[in-house]
Parts: sequence; structure tokens; C-alpha cells
Amino acid sequence: GSLNRTPLIAGNWKLNLDHLQSIAFLQKLHWSLKDASHDFDAVEVAVFPPFTDLRSLQTLVTADKYEIAYGAQDLSQHDSGAYTGEISGAFIAKLDASYVLIGHSERRTLHAETDEVVAGKVAAALRHGLVPVLCVGETAADLEEHGPSAVPVAQLRAALEGVAEGAEIVVAYEPVWAIGSGQAATPEQAQQVAAALRAELAQLLGEDAAASTRVLYGGSVKSGNIAGFMREPDVDGALVGGASLDLDEFASIVRYQK
Ligand code: PGA
Repeated sequence: GSLNRTPLIAGNWKLNLDHLQSIAFLQKLHWSLKDASHDFDAVEVAVFPPFTDLRSLQTLVTADKYEIAYGAQDLSQHDSGAYTGEISGAFIAKLDASYVLIGHSERRTLHAETDEVVAGKVAAALRHGLVPVLCVGETAADLEEHGPSAVPVAQLRAALEGVAEGAEIVVAYEPVWAIGSGQAATPEQAQQVAAALRAELAQLLGEDAAASTRVLYGGSVKSGNIAGFMREPDVDGALVGGASLDLDEFASIVRYQK
């Protein structure tokens, strides 16, 4: 990371934790970090629960003034209309969410989200004042065929088509082969792709936005490997899946400096 960018440790809960479980989890996370005197301004913490948890977390976070941000795992590219099952950016923003995950590899693969759909969702998030956490990453086959950064950079370019210079986004580099596999990328691999993504961001959003955009690494991040990633100059945090569901493990990842 760089001194100019506040590190972000984000938990992607995927299809786990109902609204009652999410309240209990966030209370425990808040108190665990408070007890450890975590500096929430120095390392930002965010969670991405299922949609049905967001209202409960809003109530908890607002009432008890938690310094933990939250966001949705997806949104519709449409604002309203005949789209059964979809959730709009306006609905998510109304619940005081800060962020929204877009283009996670599970959405791209299991829900056939194309680069066009991902770009539509990025535009929808920005339209409603949500910061998109845009996920990009190559498969093992892509890596063999195209090398490390070609596919993630192409996904970034496609997703940001039409986005105005200076827009605030977060990029999460998540190699598909590292997600849920226990086989994390090396810090050097993450740095190489993060640097390529930042160079592309300079072209797409301008130098200033590129210098302030946080690029996260995701894929089998654990308390035992987080520090190595955070030492890399272009890696500004982590998107954590499995390990974000274990309170002690996630709190240790947040406290990677300790
Ligand atoms: P993982 O998932 O940490 O379980 O590998 C990361 C993600 O899918 O965001």
C-alpha cells in the first residue's frame, strides 16, 4: 500500500449469515476490534452481507455508531421496472450502504454476467452514490494462455467504459484459481497485476484517481498471509471470503500490522 491510500479490509460473506446471525457477528467484530484498540481510520473495515441483512446492519451500525462500513454483493443495472428479483442501487443507497461488489467471479460464471452487464452495474452504482468494488481476475486457463495481467486489465477497461474521469471506485484483483482454493497468489504476483491495473486506471480515470484508487487482493487471504500482501506498494487491502466468516481470523486479518 501507499501512505496516500487508506487500506481496506473487506469481508465477502457470500451466501452465509442470515440477518440475526449478521447482527451477532457484527456486534462481536466491533467489540473485538474495539477491545484491541483498532484504529478504524488507519485501516478501514467493510462487510458485504446478503441483501436481506442490510436493513438490520444499518440499524445496528447507526444506533451504536460502529465505524464498520457495509455494502451489497450485487445490484441491478436497472433503476426500476419489470425485473423480478432484482435490487436497485437506489434501494441499497437508501440503507446507507457505502459500497457494492460488482462482477465477482461467481456472478460472472454462475450468473453469466458479461463485461457489458458489469459495466452497466458500475454505472448504476455510481449513479446512486455507491462506491463500486469492481472484481476482476483471470482463470488458470487465462493465466496459461494470456499471462498474468491481460485478462484482469481487459475486464477493468470494459467495466469502466463510459465512467467519468475522477470517479471513486475500488478494484479487487481476484485470480479465479485462488478463490476458495487455499492456493493464494504470491505477494509478488498480486503486486504485478495490481500495478498493471493502476497503470490502466491512469489511462481510464486520470493520474489523480489512479493514485487514490484502492486496489485490493482477494483469493484465499488468511491471517497468515495478509501481511505479505500489504507490504506490496500497489496492494491496498484485501477482499476476504471464507476467512471473513471466522470472527477471530477476520479480526486478525484486519489487525495485520499487529
Ligand atoms: P476466499 O474468497 O477468500 O474464500 O478465497 C474470496 C472472494 O471470493 O472474494
